[in-house]
Amino acid sequence: MEGKGKVNGVAAMAACYQGFDPAAYLQYNYTPPRADFERKDSIVPWKLACLHRAFTEGDVRGELLVDIGSGPTLYQVLSGCEVFNKVLLTDFLEVNRQELRGWLEDEGGCNLDWTPYLQHVCKLEGRRPSAWTEKAAKLRQVITDIVPVDVHRPQPLALDTLPSEGADCLVSCFCLESVSPDLAAFTRALGHIGRLLRTGGHLLLIGALGESYYFGGPGVRIPVVPLNEAQVCASLKESGYTLIRLEVYTLPQDMRVGVDDVSGVFFVKAIKE
Ligand code: SAM
Repeated sequence: MEGKGKVNGVAAMAACYQGFDPAAYLQYNYTPPRADFERKDSIVPWKLACLHRAFTEGDVRGELLVDIGSGPTLYQVLSGCEVFNKVLLTDFLEVNRQELRGWLEDEGGCNLDWTPYLQHVCKLEGRRPSAWTEKAAKLRQVITDIVPVDVHRPQPLALDTLPSEGADCLVSCFCLESVSPDLAAFTRALGHIGRLLRTGGHLLLIGALGESYYFGGPGVRIPVVPLNEAQVCASLKESGYTLIRLEVYTLPQDMRVGVDDVSGVFFVKAIKE
């Protein structure tokens, strides 16, 4: 019975994602006010600052960085692409993989201009904003592939996608809590992705706090596991990670724009035991 319930919950989530609209999702979450580079309290600059710090502290290094549940977005690898020689992007949906391929192949038709993001991260790195073209070229050079992923499978990527020892670092943003039917599934998914990471490798996890739904497109209401900080910490521990740092952002009132009911965002830096 229990096994069947698990499958149904996961299948229901997969069904919700069939209506996901990359263009609408980018518009809702990756334009002002949520991506206002003039404002320090805007959500996207906060996420980029967390990632910049994590990737430049010196302890996160190696050959291969894997982003789990990339969606149609690139912001999450703009700092990591300077540290790793290979970056693998992954998503459950072909429409999102297609959006990323569109940017990678640079043939126009992308649903979001990533230039201000590239410029902002260059600024964080102490480079002139015009270095963004070099960063874009670097990113295109290090992205090795864009592949399917399913975090509910004990083996989320196709066999032989990764070297046997696993990746050196995983980044994952707003994926696990927004694809899991409940806290137990979220914790299991954390364990599944941990199998892709080498022992001693880093996990950089960003996610929603207190969120029960978000819109993946007009009328596409996707349920989310509402998490608090204590639950995130307990799930990490249960799944074999040691927490290095947890940071929390609280959404200002004007970032609550009616596309979800998120109250905050967490950033975690952890290491696989
Ligand atoms: N990482 C992006 C970001 O930071 O905006 C996208 C996050 S979006 C809220 C959740 C992503 O999870 C979507 O791109 C969706 O396609 C993907 N997804 C859905 N089901 C999944 C599954 N079973 N395994 C992995 N990813 C899944």
